[in-house]
Amino acid sequence: MKLGVLKEQGIHRVAFIPSAAKKLKALDLELYFEADAGLKSSIEDQEYLDQGWEKKERSWILSQSDILATVKPLEAEELNQLKSGSVYISMMKPYENSPVSQQVKGMDIKAFSMDMIPRSTLAQSVDILSSMASLAGYKAVILAAERLPKIFPMMMTAAGTIRPTKVLILGAGVAGLQAIATARRLGAIVEVFDVRPAVKEEVQSLGAKFVEVEGAQDSKDAGGYAIEQTEEYKQKQAKLIQERAAKSDIIITTAQLRGKPAPLLIQKDTLDRMKQGSVVIDLAASSGGNCAMTEDQKTVHYKGVQIIGNSELADDMPNVSSELFSNNMVNYLKFLIKDGSLDLQNEITSNSLIN
Ligand code: NAD
Repeated sequence: MKLGVLKEQGIHRVAFIPSAAKKLKALDLELYFEADAGLKSSIEDQEYLDQGWEKKERSWILSQSDILATVKPLEAEELNQLKSGSVYISMMKPYENSPVSQQVKGMDIKAFSMDMIPRSTLAQSVDILSSMASLAGYKAVILAAERLPKIFPMMMTAAGTIRPTKVLILGAGVAGLQAIATARRLGAIVEVFDVRPAVKEEVQSLGAKFVEVEGAQDSKDAGGYAIEQTEEYKQKQAKLIQERAAKSDIIITTAQLRGKPAPLLIQKDTLDRMKQGSVVIDLAASSGGNCAMTEDQKTVHYKGVQIIGNSELADDMPNVSSELFSNNMVNYLKFLIKDGSLDLQNEITSNSLIN
């Protein structure tokens, strides 16, 4: 079977890095790549050639690949060029009924969406959502540190003592936990909110304070994801967040509800109370944002507070995010290809098959 790698449009990552070749060849795959496929991830064509990949035109890869994986879903016109009966793998958000997920449903291809993989122990090696969220959580802190007119650690100098920065993190999923660890490493004091009480211990073990709000709702049917909370809970939480926000220098928000708009956790009146120079990084920006002033892919300035909306921060570190994406994809193909044919019966592939 032929496996193709394209130069992605509008982002910096690439679906497979050159060194994936060894494991892919062990699956009996022939490997092809488009010119400059890895350039934005600091990978030159020569590295693909050295590992035994063959260079082909984009149109050839689209129409001849038996297996094609992309980080960003293809546009409608290019999807239509895929070979009949081929396998297409990407992140297609079928739980939001996205246009790409609808389009592939009418096509003569097997389409797999990596964001449908269960968040189970077995699936950890293929969990692209976690890989990207981890990197985004790290980058959110680094970006905030750069924008903040202060330093993170307490510093005692002959000229006086500088107090440590206070970071508030809303949502302690994969991104939030990595943000906590990064902010703590830089010396900040960190406070955290989450509706899942199960994360309390993890938060504390990273050296942060978990702020508890009583009455959180959980659901066993949500696959580990958070669910919408009652009005009473939301009001209690908003009051506590407002109190903590007024004392914080940085807020990093990561709270998501799968398939629904992100919960609104920072209202305008909370921003009104924040200190001059404070920074809000909203990682939930693409699903509406956790902050009332968030605009996706933009920085908004409001009364001395910067609100940065960006759900794609992993793309700002394309060399490592491509490496993790590629590793996850190789592991996924090991689940998908058994003795030269497709295994659609296992937990990983059956859950991610959307057509
Ligand atoms: P996510 O991106 O869906 O949400 C981020 C965090 O925001 C979550 O912790 C969520 O509880 C929290 N949140 C949602 N609404 C909130 C609100 N109103 N106020 C405060 N916090 C709120 O989360 P994710 O990182 O993708 O993780 C989703 C689930 O998958 C979690 O249960 C996580 O433990 C689980 N997970 C499992 C594995 C594994 O075992 N392989 C790997 C990664 C994640």
